[in-house]
Order: sequence, then C-alpha cells, then structure tokens
Amino acid sequence: MIEVERVEEVIKIRMANRLFGRPLYYTAAYWVDGLLIDTGCPRTSQELLSVIEELGLERIVNTHSLEDHIGGNAILQEGFGMDILAHPLALPILSDPKRLHLQLYRRLIWGSPASSQGSPIGEVVTTGHYSFEIIYTPGHSEDHISLYEPRQGWLFTGDAYIGGLDKALQADSDIYAIISSLKRLSALSTKRLFQGSGTVRDDPQEAIEKKAEYLEDLGEKVWQLHGQGLSPKEIRDPSLRPGTAHSLLDPGPLLGAQSGALISQDRGRRIVE
Ligand SMILES: [Zn+2]
Repeated sequence: MIEVERVEEVIKIRMANRLFGRPLYYTAAYWVDGLLIDTGCPRTSQELLSVIEELGLERIVNTHSLEDHIGGNAILQEGFGMDILAHPLALPILSDPKRLHLQLYRRLIWGSPASSQGSPIGEVVTTGHYSFEIIYTPGHSEDHISLYEPRQGWLFTGDAYIGGLDKALQADSDIYAIISSLKRLSALSTKRLFQGSGTVRDDPQEAIEKKAEYLEDLGEKVWQLHGQGLSPKEIRDPSLRPGTAHSLLDPGPLLGAQSGALISQDRGRRIVE
C-alpha cells in the first residue's frame, strides 16, 4: 500500500505492508527536487518504482541501513543507475543486507532487501534548488544521518526522532546517543519535521526536546532501579515492582552489551553534550 501527498515542495510517499487487508507498520520516503530520501521496505519497492518513474530521480540518500528504509534501493538503482549516498557504516549493509540478521517477524513485515551499491555521503547534498546539510544522528542505529535544509527550515530525521513513548527499543539502539542526537536536532531552526514514519510536524522543537527529556528520565529511573539491585526483568515488569502501574522500557539497551560501570561513567557526558 502506498500513499502520495505533497507538502510544500516535498512529495511524501508513505508505505505500509498489509496483513489481512490492514496496514501494519508505516514507513515513508520523501522526494524533493530529484532527491529521494529513503526507499521504504522491500515489499513496497515495485509500487515505489511506479511513483518514482513519474517523478524522475537523480539521487538517493538513505538515512540509515534498516530494512524499512533501504528496501527500494536495488530496484531503483537498477532502473535509474544513480548514486545512493549513506553513512560509511551503512555501506557494507547496503551491499550485503544479510548482515542485518533480520528476525523472522521483520522479514515477514517488511521483506528482505536486495543488494545495492552505496557511496559515502559528504557534509552537504545539493539539488537544483536546495542544499541539505548532513547531520550525524546515531542512536537508533550507528549509521544514522538526518538532512537539514536551513533556508526552507526542513528537517528529515529518518528514525532519529520517533514520536510517542517507546514501548521497546531494538537491542542495538543506544539510548544516550539517541538523546544527544535529539539535542543536536532541537537546536536547529526547523519549521517542518519529516519523520521516517510519514508524520510531518510544524514547529517541532518542543516535541524533540520533550522526547529527549522523556528518555533521560526513563534512563534515570532504570539506573535507580538497577542500583537497587533489580534485574532487567524486574525493571521491565510493573507487577514485580510494587508502587507503580507503569511498565518501563526494556532496559536491555541501557544495561546491555557494555558493563554498567562503563555506561554509567559515560552517560553524564553524553547527556549534557
Ligand atoms: Zn529505523
């Protein structure tokens, strides 16, 4: 399923895979002045190709290398033979998407991307009429970038900003890197925010700041409970913690791969960055 809508000079292309006729999760690509930002998931790549054939295409940028943002790369590159620009860390995944090690549910929802060839993105990407600054925004993934057009006040954030209160983070997400990326983004003079889900927001600074605060608070709570000796399971499950009705985010990404001490030392610096 694919929906196309114009927002100023930007064409928003929102895609979802259906299960039993109902759209499951949404992802979005944005076309502006011949530049395509992200390419949706593999299952909607043929529909995306039909839309792009009407619009024309000069260049693709991937905000990051997850399957719901690079899914149309291969078919579009084959059809148009153009450059795909991405963070250097994303390039090995573009050429060999099996490196994503997708769980079954992700393969079912989005499909498995085919191989494409990317080139390292520089600090600026220009089109005929616009100039996009490339901002490194790791956290959701290590290879995540956002695009900012200062004269228009447009900000394309991929999944660096996700609205609402998270119920789960992927195990390899870095919550403190997400917070510092959000702070970097909230300092820009953005008039319009184009999210990777297809939501478009006007005057988004406050929403971005609030999200950073929410994650900081969440991190503090998790660390407090961790300091009291609770296990990740006890931290996650409110029925194991008397006095609260709220389930906390799975603490895995906070307490996970690195030792607690290491993250603990590092987090103060990262939060105030
Ligand atoms: Zn993502």
